[in-house]
Amino acid sequence: MARPTLAIHGGAGTILRSQMTPALEREYRNGLEAALAAGWAILEHGGKSIDAVEASVASLEDYPLFNAGRGAVFTHDGKQEMDASIMDGRKLRAGAVAAVTNIKHPIKLARLVMERTDHIFLAGEGANEFARQMHVEIESDEYFFTEHRWRQLREAIARGDVKLDHSVPGRQLAVSKPIGTVGAVACDRHGHLAAATSTGGMTNKKYGRVGDTPLIGAGNYADDICAVSGTGHGEFFMLGLSAFDVSARMRYAGLPLADAVRETIERLTTIGGEGGLIAVNSKGEFAMLFNSEGMYRGYITSDEPMVTAIYSDEGK
Ligand code: ASP
Repeated sequence: MARPTLAIHGGAGTILRSQMTPALEREYRNGLEAALAAGWAILEHGGKSIDAVEASVASLEDYPLFNAGRGAVFTHDGKQEMDASIMDGRKLRAGAVAAVTNIKHPIKLARLVMERTDHIFLAGEGANEFARQMHVEIESDEYFFTEHRWRQLREAIARGDVKLDHSVPGRQLAVSKPIGTVGAVACDRHGHLAAATSTGGMTNKKYGRVGDTPLIGAGNYADDICAVSGTGHGEFFMLGLSAFDVSARMRYAGLPLADAVRETIERLTTIGGEGGLIAVNSKGEFAMLFNSEGMYRGYITSDEPMVTAIYSDEGK
């Protein structure tokens, strides 16, 4: 019997205590706690890790403060194009969608790709057509719109940059609510692992840009050794194949989980990337590391109560 464990993140980046109000911090922690509760309700009753990570990420997609589902960032053209992927480590199966629009829960669509198609990765209009055929929940543009995301786009266009959701030059927050991509990793009582990650990507992205989140092995990965979800500047997670890199370090170099995650973050830093990773192994041990100022994150295990953390000097 493994130790059931669930770990989640809500994005990594420049998150400074000095810029946070108590009320806003409470809102973030509420969102993290709701997501942990949603996944844990499954795991604590002997449910599967794949169901737990889907439930946690769907909860975060509902929460407008996070950059996934409702509250996703805007593209240069003022659209909200979302990416998501899910992986079942026990079966070594995965599903992913990219640049989908108006899908209430992109993570559920990714799971349907995994379970109802012979493919792994659907993109754009084809993925949206598949969503219609699967009768997944579709929402209006108004549902996804948030004022602070719109303001972020205007500011990014004015500066002429493609902005990682929560990283701001000069460490000044350009917006009052920096938030990010969401993800979950879980180990169930059988030691089976799963990972799920969902995002709106980067503010002001152009030309159908797709990041690491739906790319299996870059922003999300699970096998029989570990499950990993990433957040940060996606291009660097793609170059480092960061999520798979954790598994490779464990499998080929025999590293323990925490060391593998640390070395992968060091590699990310070396190649110029910013962000964080959460990971769990088949014993239910977990690690959450980042090279940015902070990462919205939380965990719960069968022998520890729920913990949430935001800054680098708190939590695990
Ligand atoms: N990794 C995401 C992307 O590049 C962004 C994020 O994690 O905030 O699309």
